[in-house]
Amino acid sequence: MPSLQGQAALVTGSSSGIGTAVAQSLAAAGAKVGVNYSRSADEAEVVVADIRAAGGEAIAIQADVSQEDQVQRMFSQFCEAFGTIDILVNNAGLQRDFNLVDMSLADWNLVIGVNLTGQFLCAREAVKEFLRRGLVPERSCAVGKIICMSSVHEVIPWAGHCNYAASKGGVSLLMKSMAQELAPQKIRINSIAPGAIQTPINRDAWETPEALEALLKLIPYKRIGVPEDIGKAAVWLASDDSDYVQGETLFVDGGMTLYPGFESGG
Ligand code: NAD
Repeated sequence: MPSLQGQAALVTGSSSGIGTAVAQSLAAAGAKVGVNYSRSADEAEVVVADIRAAGGEAIAIQADVSQEDQVQRMFSQFCEAFGTIDILVNNAGLQRDFNLVDMSLADWNLVIGVNLTGQFLCAREAVKEFLRRGLVPERSCAVGKIICMSSVHEVIPWAGHCNYAASKGGVSLLMKSMAQELAPQKIRINSIAPGAIQTPINRDAWETPEALEALLKLIPYKRIGVPEDIGKAAVWLASDDSDYVQGETLFVDGGMTLYPGFESGG
């Protein structure tokens, strides 16, 4: 595993699912980790306790990533605790699924607010701190790293989920535009696009044998992903091993984006 020794990493929405695995994997690679949560302080404290029990360093920090003042407070608390930030993982996200005609403006705004605006707000604060601090060559050859948690739905349209698909499509060009703008300052920005990963967000898709069977038809590799699949990819993207990777989306999806309908010749 590449080393992130001495680096400070903030993972939004890491009191459950993919975020927890990413926080644990970054900590196992030597990073000090901020476990952000919006509501579930108890769950976040369990993640922090697990990381500490494994010999790592972690703190829990509350913030709703869609709220500017809360994001700014979270970064102040994080930098007060760890001195600076080296790695941001923009992971927090949610779904509110409705057919178009039944979708309220509130459901649209909530999903765009957390999944897209939240990534902008957190990235902006992280980049301000990266630029203030500058390069620390003993820690990393980049001034800072941001990983945006996208989805296969940044490219696959998703009926009944147009707010979610629009938010992830937005993350794709937000990430690439930030990466283009900030590459000259040696700030690396990339995305991970998970396929179907077994977490609370998609319980309906794997909870029953029938649902799982239907899901596996969409996955050429014929297994559902686990959060650790994403944790390992995040360590690599945050490390200097991926130093020449900029503005890319790494699909970690068991082949879900390979047009599985054509598996048997189309
Ligand atoms: P999850 O529901 O376990 O995790 C989402 C986390 O975001 C939760 O901890 C939740 O509390 C947090 N969150 C929600 N609103 C927030 C807010 N306003 N402020 C701060 N935190 C907030 O689901 P997950 O599958 O672990 O999802 C993590 C990320 O991965 C999301 O961005 C999701 O879109 C993405 N993703 C998941 C899958 C999958 O199959 N599980 C696939 C593609 C993308």
